[in-house]
Amino acid sequence: PFEVLVVGGGPAGAAASVYTARKGFRTGIAAERLGGQLNDTLGIENLPGTAYTEGPKLAANLENHVGEYEIDVMNLARGVKLSPAAEAGEMHTLELANGGTLKARSLILATGARWRNLGVPGEQDYRGKGVAYCPHCDGPLFKGKRVAVIGGGNSGVEAAIDLANIVGHVTLIEYDSQLRADEVLQRKLRSLSNVDVLTSAQTTEILGDGSKVSALVYKDRESGEESRIELAGVFVQIGLVPNTEWLKGSGLDLSKFGEIIVDERGATNLPGIFAAGDATTVPYKQIVTAMGDGSKAALSAFDYLIRNESA
Ligand code: FAD
Repeated sequence: PFEVLVVGGGPAGAAASVYTARKGFRTGIAAERLGGQLNDTLGIENLPGTAYTEGPKLAANLENHVGEYEIDVMNLARGVKLSPAAEAGEMHTLELANGGTLKARSLILATGARWRNLGVPGEQDYRGKGVAYCPHCDGPLFKGKRVAVIGGGNSGVEAAIDLANIVGHVTLIEYDSQLRADEVLQRKLRSLSNVDVLTSAQTTEILGDGSKVSALVYKDRESGEESRIELAGVFVQIGLVPNTEWLKGSGLDLSKFGEIIVDERGATNLPGIFAAGDATTVPYKQIVTAMGDGSKAALSAFDYLIRNESA
């Protein structure tokens, strides 16, 4: 059995495991895919201290760093069921999709999230070539250009306000007949001269020249008419889905969006179970914040373990 078992091998999980291993705790990582979202990321320019890197390279660096310690790394290990300890100090059990089970006195859940895809032709082909999901990450790549933001909820409207400051022009596209973002954000959005808002508009295709995005096609849901907008970038902002479906029914408190509810120490409602990164209620979801939260959750696990000697 482990003293600390980290579930997830992205930035949050890697950071957590290094911290607990350095405290001398027997640490394991069970991850469906080591590196997490980094595997799908091209340029990274907002990790302080590293002016430029690429996702797969950062993932390899994290794996090497984890490899410096006696951490039991289990890749291709997907958790399917969590059975929390009946009492503080006892063992939690993680069941894996491959039929195995792992036991640990404390758990750090860092299973991350995935961006909800539009599911239209061109989206996958031009991912990272004009189709983007993170305005904080990729906004500056479209300096002075025309882009669209798809989604009129808070994240879409925030993205449009953010991008309007950097890019030449933003078209916000909402499927519904009205935006769902908070009124104060909508007012800010409408005050910007380089933003157009389209409602009742269904994006049907993203077009490109083979190497990058050149246009977007949408259908007016009232008239049925199709239109085309020439642009360089499409930001898809229709939701970030936490990888926590497998935790439902375990007794762990999740928010209405499925995020693991954590306090400022990364503690969940269950003793000895901590969480970090994109899978949690933490407000901003970035690599640097995931790493920071991972280290925080690890130090909280350390604190828990020294106060709850082996049962
Ligand atoms: P993740 O990276 O999602 O890792 C989750 C881990 O958990 C993975 O190992 C996964 O396989 C595993 N897992 C999931 N479910 C299970 C399960 N049931 N059992 C076991 N393991 C499981 N952020 C920036 O700061 N800068 C950027 O430039 C940037 N660009 C981005 C570009 C793209 C295309 C994307 C998608 C994201 C980008 N981000 C960027 C966001 C950043 O990647 C995330 O905030 C960060 O990876 C979150 O780290 P995490 O460890 O919480 O989760």
